[in-house]
Amino acid sequence: MPDPSLVLHAGRAYALTVVEVGLACCAVEVLAAQQLRPDLLQPGPHPHTSAAHARPGTPDVHVLLVSGTVTTAQAGSVRAAYDALPEPRAVMSVGACANTGGPYWDSYAVVAGVDRIVPVDVYVPGCPPRPEAILGGLEALETALASR
Ligand code: SF4
Repeated sequence: MPDPSLVLHAGRAYALTVVEVGLACCAVEVLAAQQLRPDLLQPGPHPHTSAAHARPGTPDVHVLLVSGTVTTAQAGSVRAAYDALPEPRAVMSVGACANTGGPYWDSYAVVAGVDRIVPVDVYVPGCPPRPEAILGGLEALETALASR
């Protein structure tokens, strides 16, 4: 995983407005990522939004960041949050639970990966992922957006 200082020094090709759906323990790591690099990932006006800062004039992309265990009961709400995002939009899945269901992959009550509900651009592995990995995921997302 890249050194987070490289993320800042590389500059940002996109202004990423991040809407977080924090569902379990991984959401705490997203908060830690904000604390680690508040210059890079600043809390937004809403408790579950933040902004990955970019150079002025760069294109704005709305990012749904799903962290934690997606239960079947929550699946509809996650899809609704994605549908509410304006285009262009992207999805980042944070942690084993969001990626695959994690330790609960075979539970009838857990979705075995948020990509069964919404299209995912970047997966951040780990249970939980370190905050640095989440910042690295934002960098990977920029690369994915550039290749669209
Ligand atoms: S991946 Fe691990 S740390 Fe993250 S929500 Fe699931 S159980 Fe919690």
